[in-house]
Amino acid sequence: MTAATTVSEVRAYAAMCPGAALEPYRFSHRDLAATDIEIAITHCGICHSDWHLIQNDWGVSSYPLVPGHEIVGTIARLGAEITALRQGQRVGVGWLAGACMRCEQCRAGTENLCRQAQPTCVGRPGGYAAAVIVDGRFAASIPHQMPSEVAAPLLCAGITVFAPLRRRQLAPCSRVGIVGVGGLSHLAIQFAKGMGCAVTAFSETAGKAKDAAHLGADRFVWLGSEAELKAEASTSDFVLATPPVDLPWAAYLEVLKPDGRFCIVGAAPGDVRLPACALIGGQKSIGGSAVGSNAEIRAMLDFAVAHHLQRMVELYAMNDVNKALERLIRNQIRYRAVLVHHG
Ligand code: ZN
Repeated sequence: MTAATTVSEVRAYAAMCPGAALEPYRFSHRDLAATDIEIAITHCGICHSDWHLIQNDWGVSSYPLVPGHEIVGTIARLGAEITALRQGQRVGVGWLAGACMRCEQCRAGTENLCRQAQPTCVGRPGGYAAAVIVDGRFAASIPHQMPSEVAAPLLCAGITVFAPLRRRQLAPCSRVGIVGVGGLSHLAIQFAKGMGCAVTAFSETAGKAKDAAHLGADRFVWLGSEAELKAEASTSDFVLATPPVDLPWAAYLEVLKPDGRFCIVGAAPGDVRLPACALIGGQKSIGGSAVGSNAEIRAMLDFAVAHHLQRMVELYAMNDVNKALERLIRNQIRYRAVLVHHG
């Protein structure tokens, strides 16, 4: 297959200014570079980050803004240097659409840590569209057993929780705490369980106990007050915090066993304030994690197939995108919304 340079018009949904409802929008694709592919999109998950970008909460948005970075579709065109993929192949793309591929991190296979990593829908049109152009090296082949609506949310929500759990190399029967039962954590519970861990789900919503158990959580701790958290002192080897809100950080460090690690993947708006002694006593550590590398995405997709990940998605036609976003901000999605593009 050779590089095509046709400029075609793409149908999409875009926010025309910060905070605006999305509306139909057409744009012309740039030419394909030698390492690019064009994907005809069939599915795109809706991530909380899309909402932040629409609002320009992070000061990086440009308008018209086409959100979307949990993309699944088939390859429509390939650049001249792409040999590992073929036209018509089903692939997925997550938060990253490219990186420099030359720096220390890229050469080590941790492209997600590249300082020039290119987010899929920042400064370029994302996946709420009929097609997207990305660096072909950032497209993962979707296992044939996996439905596209299951694959889409894995590409951002899934890898965000899978990568830190996997990097920790938790021994079977390690005790893992997952904070929240939502878009990211409903996948984290399943991954941790699949890794053989004993999983405790922490949530402020008592009504989520049943779902947490259904997803595989061994225990559910309803956070009605800080007393509930205190009762969990020294019970977890690893705690993953997914909600993008400020938490009682010091109280959560108490939940860790000695040598335990607390990992933040939900971008809390405020500072993380802790007494130093909360870390020193018990040699505890706290850190963060940002999506995952291309290799980690491939490992996650295989893991999800092997462990029969459950499908917990709500499907929306592309022209219902504002309805889906409305439910997202009201916390009503169970547990991930996926836009379906009907061509
Ligand atoms: Zn995301």
